[in-house]
Amino acid sequence: MLGERLCEVLDYAQQRGLPSRIVSNGYWATSSNVAKQRLTKLKLSGLRELNLSTGDNHQEWVTIEKVLTAARESLRLGINTVVSIETTKHSHFKEKDLRQHPIYQSIENEGLDNRLEIVNAAWVSFHRDQEYEYEDIDDAEINNGCDHLFKFIGLNPKSELVACCGLTVDYIPEMNLGKFNQDSKLKQAYDQQKDDFMKRWLFVAGPINIMRMVKQWDKTIQIPKFAHYCQTCAYIFQSEDIRQCILTNFSSIKDEINQKFENKIKINEELKLV
Ligand code: SF4
Repeated sequence: MLGERLCEVLDYAQQRGLPSRIVSNGYWATSSNVAKQRLTKLKLSGLRELNLSTGDNHQEWVTIEKVLTAARESLRLGINTVVSIETTKHSHFKEKDLRQHPIYQSIENEGLDNRLEIVNAAWVSFHRDQEYEYEDIDDAEINNGCDHLFKFIGLNPKSELVACCGLTVDYIPEMNLGKFNQDSKLKQAYDQQKDDFMKRWLFVAGPINIMRMVKQWDKTIQIPKFAHYCQTCAYIFQSEDIRQCILTNFSSIKDEINQKFENKIKINEELKLV
C-alpha cells in the first residue's frame, strides 16, 4: 500500500547496511508477472526477506494462490522467503494443504522448495469476541526473562519510541517511551526504563514467571491460557486485580529482582548484547 515509498524506505536501510524484511498478506500478487515486477523493484532496493502470512483468517480476504504466487516469484529472484501459517488447535488450513497445492508443487519441481521456510505460527487474537484453543505452548523461550527489553529502542509508525517489539506492545501503554523528534535523546529514553520495576522484573523473569508469582500471592486470581507470552504480558498490565496484587506484594522480592537485573545487564554489556 506504500507504493514507491516502500522502495525509498528499503533504499534507506540498504544505504546504511541494514537488512530489511517485509511481512505481507500477498494481496498484490495478482499474477506471476505482477508479482515479479513488484518484487524485482523491492529486491533492487535491498529487500532481504519476504514473509507471507496465510491461514483460515487471512484466506477470508486473500487467496492461497496469491500467497504462493508471491512466494514462487520471490524464490525465483533469490529473496529469502517465509510462509507463516496461522495455527490453532482447530485450524482448517494446515501446512499439508499448502504442500499439496499445485503452485507449491511447481515450486518443488523447480527445486526452490528447500529455500522456502514454512512456519506454523500461533494465531493470536486480541479481541474478546474471538477465542481460540491451542496445543500446549512451550514457554521455555521466556523462562530466563524477556530478552526483547533493554536491547534496543523501537520506532513505531506513529513516530513513538517503544521499549520492545512484542506482539502486544500496542496494548501496554507502559512500553511507550514517548514521541520521537529531532531533539529526542535516545540514551535518556533507554536509561529511564531502568527506573521501572516492572520492566526490570520482565527482563529477568519474563511474564510467565511473574504470573506464577502473582498466583502464589493470590490464589483466587484466574489465569487464562494464552498462546504467546506477550499475551500474558499484556494481561498482567491490563488486569486491575493483578496490578493491585503486584503493588501490594512487590516489596518482598524487590531487592532480589534488582540484584538479578544488575547482574543480567552487566553480563549482557560484557557480551556486547546491549
Ligand atoms: S513479553 Fe512483554 S516485554 Fe517482552 S516482548 Fe512481549 S510484550 Fe514486550
